[in-house]
Amino acid sequence: MISMKPRDAVLGAMSVTTLCQVCESATASHACDTCGAAVCAEHYDRETGLCTVCAARVRGG
Ligand SMILES: [Zn+2]
Ligand SMILES: [Zn+2]
Repeated sequence: MISMKPRDAVLGAMSVTTLCQVCESATASHACDTCGAAVCAEHYDRETGLCTVCAARVRGG
């Protein structure tokens, strides 16, 4: 079952441009559920709703 995550759209409503906290070059468009980091689409794991850093930790553990 697929559930939509409202957080996906939260950052899109912000007027201030935030840089991805992973690559610090792309515009952040998502927020990690665990650490709250703002990340770009490339560093956001849609399956888990986490940044790639946290997603790697969850999957590895
Ligand atoms: Zn990034
Ligand atoms: Zn994270």
